[in-house]
Amino acid sequence: MEKKQFQAESKRLLEMMINSIYTQKEIFLRELISNASDAIDKIYYKALTDDQLVFDKENYYIKVTADKENRTLTLRDTGIGMTQEELENNLGVIAKSGSLAFKNENESKDGHAIIGQFGVGFYSAFMVADVVTVTTKALGSDTAYKWESTGADGYTIEQAEKDEVGTEIVLKIKANTEDESYDEYLDEYRLKALIKKYSDFIRYPIKMDVTGK
Ligand code: ADP
Ligand code: MG
Repeated sequence: MEKKQFQAESKRLLEMMINSIYTQKEIFLRELISNASDAIDKIYYKALTDDQLVFDKENYYIKVTADKENRTLTLRDTGIGMTQEELENNLGVIAKSGSLAFKNENESKDGHAIIGQFGVGFYSAFMVADVVTVTTKALGSDTAYKWESTGADGYTIEQAEKDEVGTEIVLKIKANTEDESYDEYLDEYRLKALIKKYSDFIRYPIKMDVTGK
């Protein structure tokens, strides 16, 4: 399988994320949940003008699952999904690199102030994960695709199995280092608190299995 390179700007932002000059790593969850919510919004708005499509509220939600043993955090949504082309265009490139452009114009402001105010997007996942796997099936498509990346060295896209329309993002949470523990991103109570802190306004249900572990 061919490994593709990120575009130059994306690569810069990605490197910033990976080397995380930011202390607020936790905001990755806000970013991924807001993307999931946007993806459900897209179906919602499509249904308003498309008679063939019925938006039954019960079927639309975001699910967060932590697996401590395997050190994975999974976010699943029943949103509009992505085609192969969209995967390539949306996750291979930072098209609307708003936060990066802003940073360049405001070098005097420090990164923390900026990251708190602006969406940093999907790549923030690499602040807490060393592998990110996105499996997605677009509305109206029969084929699912899997995008995978370990960070700055590029990404792969291949066909995959997925029954339902929507997107599943699996983060392989980083191992703890001497200076930094990532365990909190696998802790259900901590995750719940983060969801409450950053995503309380999300209009769709955010589900979480509580195992009590
Ligand atoms: P932004 O949300 O500001 O567009 P992101 O970096 O957060 O930037 O996401 C980039 C793009 O990737 C989104 O615009 C969207 O097209 C796509 N995307 C990300 N996550 C999802 C998802 N869960 N479902 C569908 N598309 C997604
Ligand atoms: Mg976003």
